[in-house]
Amino acid sequence: MIAALAMALSSLSVVSNSSRLRQFTPKPAAIPAMASTTDPVIEIGNQNENKDTPMTHDHETTSDNTTLAADPVCGMKIDPKTAAATREHDGTTFYFCSTGCAARFDADPHKYGHPHAH
Ligand SMILES: [Zn+2]
Repeated sequence: MIAALAMALSSLSVVSNSSRLRQFTPKPAAIPAMASTTDPVIEIGNQNENKDTPMTHDHETTSDNTTLAADPVCGMKIDPKTAAATREHDGTTFYFCSTGCAARFDADPHKYGHPHAH
C-alpha cells in the first residue's frame, strides 16, 4: 500500500519534471491557452502533437506543387516565393529574377507584358 503510493508519487514527479523542462523549450504550441498549466495529461497530449508537426512540415517541403513563373524580360523560370522583384500590370503579376529585370520591365511594361499587343 505504502510502496504503491510511493511509486505513484515518484511517477508523478517525473511527469511534472518533464513538463517543466518542456516549458523551457520554445514551442508555442505546447502551451495552449485552454490547457491548465497544472494538468500533466494535457502536456503528454501535446508531446504527441509535437511529433506530428515536423512530419506535416516535411510533407509540405517535399510536395512540389509550386508553379514557376517566367521572368518576362530574360525568360528565366522564377519561383514566385523567391522572386527578387514583382510587378503587376493589367491585373497580371510578373516575377523577376533580379531588380535589374524589373527595372527594364518598368521602362517599357507593354513590351514585356504584352508580347503580341500594340
Ligand atoms: Zn531576369
